[in-house]
Amino acid sequence: MTRDPSHDVLFEPVRIGPKLAKNRFYQVPHASGMTNANPRVRAAFRATKAEGGWGVVCTGACSVHPSSDDSPFPFATLWDDADIHAHALMCDAVHDHGALAGVELWHGGAAAVNRTTRHAPLSPSGIPWMATHVGFMSPARPKIMDAGDIRDLIRWQADAARRAEVAGFDILYVYAGMGYLPYQFLLPDYNRRTDAYGGSLRNRLRLVEELIDATREATHGRCAVALRISLEELRARPSDNAESEAHEVITFLRDAPDLFDVKMDYSASDCAPSRFSPEGSHEPVVDFVKSCTDRPVVGVGRFTSPDTMASMVRRGVLDFIGAARPSIADPFLPAKIEAGASEDIRECIGCNMCISSWHDGVWVRCTQNPTAGEEWRRGWHPERIARDGAGEVLVIGGGPAGLEAALTAARRGFRVAVAEAGADFGGRLRFESRLPGLSAWHRVIDYRLGHLRRMENVALYPASRLGPDDVAEFGADHVIVATGARWNPTLFTESELPGALLSGPRVLIPDDIAAGAQVEGPVAVFDYDCYYMGSAIAEALSDRGCAVTYVTTAGAAAAWGFMTNEQPQVHRSFARRGIALRTLERVTGFDGEWLELAQVFSGQETRIAARTLVIVGQRTGERGLHDALAGRIGAARLHLTGDAAAPGAIAHAIYQAHACARALGLDAPPAPRRDAPFVPAGLASGAGW
Ligand code: ADP
Ligand code: SF4
Repeated sequence: MTRDPSHDVLFEPVRIGPKLAKNRFYQVPHASGMTNANPRVRAAFRATKAEGGWGVVCTGACSVHPSSDDSPFPFATLWDDADIHAHALMCDAVHDHGALAGVELWHGGAAAVNRTTRHAPLSPSGIPWMATHVGFMSPARPKIMDAGDIRDLIRWQADAARRAEVAGFDILYVYAGMGYLPYQFLLPDYNRRTDAYGGSLRNRLRLVEELIDATREATHGRCAVALRISLEELRARPSDNAESEAHEVITFLRDAPDLFDVKMDYSASDCAPSRFSPEGSHEPVVDFVKSCTDRPVVGVGRFTSPDTMASMVRRGVLDFIGAARPSIADPFLPAKIEAGASEDIRECIGCNMCISSWHDGVWVRCTQNPTAGEEWRRGWHPERIARDGAGEVLVIGGGPAGLEAALTAARRGFRVAVAEAGADFGGRLRFESRLPGLSAWHRVIDYRLGHLRRMENVALYPASRLGPDDVAEFGADHVIVATGARWNPTLFTESELPGALLSGPRVLIPDDIAAGAQVEGPVAVFDYDCYYMGSAIAEALSDRGCAVTYVTTAGAAAAWGFMTNEQPQVHRSFARRGIALRTLERVTGFDGEWLELAQVFSGQETRIAARTLVIVGQRTGERGLHDALAGRIGAARLHLTGDAAAPGAIAHAIYQAHACARALGLDAPPAPRRDAPFVPAGLASGAGW
């Protein structure tokens, strides 16, 4: 296959100051959860993207000084020379594939409350970042920076820039975005100073300008300097001199950096879930930047379509196609476009499990790409796998887990048969991808089925419910049972455990809705699962015209959806749809007319009218077939995976199934490797924090 000529524009080299990027594919800085404590894991994660064709590959946030400490959230550091080695490993690995390496030098200001280093957080005017989620909240209020603090900050940036050059980075960032310190200087909401750094826009810009100059001077112009800037709030601010303050800022700084990396201001809008935002959602905010500067511009938008990417360049919106999530889901996206194999792209589904990993403080995990974060630890490559399989594998269940197991086993060279009870493949996603906003999630199935259908060693059997006798008769060398899970209509006890099963008229679970159950309103959705299912069902039933009350034991709707940036949008969606929200309550009974509720802490009882109750709580694996086979097929040949083994998010099912298929037939699958930080002699002597 050859490259589609309409995509040629994406492969043009672009100059970034003193450096030349080989193409327009730019992996922007993004959190990976990989710190200096995991230098090999990090290097391999980033290098895999360089191998996959990205012309620029950047780090995530890299703190310039201990007064920018984001713990317990993971971040990298360039605090002293001892940090250089860990980064050099990544730079070398990225350079080996002909890509440029960028580092997002970062000071969090009031948003980094220094839980470990215990420095007073720094800020222009003592205005805290008022986080409303407990993981981010802190009673620590920031210090107002004096002139000496500002001088220090500029020096820390320059020192970190020098170290970055030694490590091998080509592009050094000044980061004025997402509520971090230079951004706080840009906005009067944070910056109420009356000195040369506050007041007029010119003054508010001064710090950013000085940071850019200091970064350039520190490496004598040998490295490119990028400005990463959030433009949502600035664009909304009127200006006397331009269309908005954002226009004024970019025009003023037009020749200062070698590249503009433009983005939104808040994680939930910057890294918006596909459930609420389409591909290219940043364009209305960042589309003007190129009209104000000749410097190259990179921006993101969860781009997975090469046609959209080429159009962004042709229409003059962006020079570089920036990507965080699409590069995680498919590190080989550029290589596939180059090879004219766009249909092979493992498209990001916009579920934001990757972001949840950062919130969890762990290495990045991806629903679509089970190898993300496992490149070094397990030696998993997203595209290559040893072709060492011999014999036949029968996979039972054609959901995410079954299809992932089948694809991985088939790539290893096994002959694979997949039996699915339903008329269509897709498992839980047959229903879930039809819920409001979740259609992009079906890419999990499309990608896998698309490949399986083209493989000669694969046979797909829809509408084939297998029982134990069928399986035994089939006589495969390996049997993988991926039969999924079912929701339970269980209540939730005072001690926060799944309680008694609730039976009665019009008590439903998501599986009933999936099967087309009639729903009589008014409906109550009781959600103690707290991820997307409860809120998505509430939305779906509301869209059908039912009056819906959403009840949850948590303090907010879709409480775990905070981790995936869904939660704020769920609340907006409920308000738009008129879905009533009741928090911190549990259902204690339902007679088909009245729903009994108890406040989770006080126990105070109340009741509301409802004709139908949907309980979204606990799931149990469907392991009946597996257990019936256990006596008939040896343990070495019988495998239980996905939701049937341990119900979870789709990401969990895919990962389990991938690992299961990787291990098929191996006497001893390779043990994961354990990374460790570089600890130079003398570090313990105390020059640091
Ligand atoms: P997972 O997320 O683990 O893949 P799903 O629930 O999405 O789980 O998919 C499980 C699939 O297994 C469903 O599509 C279901 O129809 C199918 N299935 C369950 N039992 C059988 C069976 N006995 N034979 C064939 N397919 C089955
Ligand atoms: Fe995309 Fe989801 Fe993977 Fe993140 S976890 S990269 S949003 S598919």
